Amino acid sequence: MTELRRACPSATAADLAVPPPQLRLIVDQAALAANWRALAALSGRAETGAAVKADCYGLGIDTCAPVLLAAGCRSFFVAHWSEVRALAAHVPAEAIAVLHGPMSAADCAFARACGAVPVINSLDQARLWNATGGGRCHLMIDTGINRLGIAPAEAGDPAIAALEIDILMSHLASADEDSAMNARQAELLRALAPAIPHRRVSLANSAGIALGERFAFDLTRPGLALYGGVPRGELAPHIRPVARIEAQLLQCREIGAGESVGYNAAFTAAAPMRIGTVAIGYADGFLRQRGPGNALLHQGRALPILGKVSMDMVVVDLGPAPDLAAGEWVEVPWNLADAGQAGGLSPYELLTTIGPRLRRC
Ligand SMILES: *Cc1c(COP(=O)(O)O)cnc(C)c1O
Repeated sequence: MTELRRACPSATAADLAVPPPQLRLIVDQAALAANWRALAALSGRAETGAAVKADCYGLGIDTCAPVLLAAGCRSFFVAHWSEVRALAAHVPAEAIAVLHGPMSAADCAFARACGAVPVINSLDQARLWNATGGGRCHLMIDTGINRLGIAPAEAGDPAIAALEIDILMSHLASADEDSAMNARQAELLRALAPAIPHRRVSLANSAGIALGERFAFDLTRPGLALYGGVPRGELAPHIRPVARIEAQLLQCREIGAGESVGYNAAFTAAAPMRIGTVAIGYADGFLRQRGPGNALLHQGRALPILGKVSMDMVVVDLGPAPDLAAGEWVEVPWNLADAGQAGGLSPYELLTTIGPRLRRC
């Protein structure tokens, strides 16, 4: 420790200006707001909320939450209690619903102290919330996804009757498919609702909004489509891309026929070629399955990826862009609608695996 201090005697790290990053995550805030408004229009008379869990699906709560609030959103959904603080810096705590609900008296005390609202998912959670003082909550009822929520048969339990329920909600299992299950879930929720005192009913996620007004109830909860994902074709004309990712070219080099590139020499040059090392890797969410067969882009020119993606770097063929030099920027395709470049990842995974170095730049 002393040695480290002596190496940098007069300035602490905090005093030094941080050099510019080698990665860029560019969030189009106008597109985010436009997507929320488009989903609000498609939700008809229902109110429109926003799923902002997992750091707004990887795009950053500090970047996205103020935009959603300004667009008119008044109901925000996170999964963990640990996500409340960062969101409450931007939106009223009473507007925050915590989907996993309380697991302990400490969770209940935290909810009451800060004002965030638990989603009750089981009779145990209902009893815990009641025993620690009750108050406004939401209730998840499971209509078929078998993940979280009370069973329909538990709806008449005294622990449920004692709750002060604002949003009575359920979650669709197959909204992104034309499945008979969608209507079954909606009709089950409609049938159960009159027996459970509540203020608002909510079912639809992004894909559910595209299923039509019988799925909208009083409040919709889009996530993916806000951030540019298109889970159903009907939404395509309404949703704009939100995220763009760029990385700096660190070095260019010439290699000869027979030379290999990267770990395990997974690529071997058949002829002399010019290659470039780019500052993005799997630690940034550019996972290995997105390597072979894919390309980075420069002004519309595809730069094929060579060999394995490393933790912090990926190597590309500069043949299509002989003018490129170290220090220039290339685009890393993060097209949520292009399953091919995703290497088998869902658009949800493409977004939420965006790495910490990108989120901080
Ligand atoms: C994540 C989530 C949503 C949002 O789903 P999308 O498919 O991203 O629109 C809505 N409701 C619940 C309960 C969720 O967990």
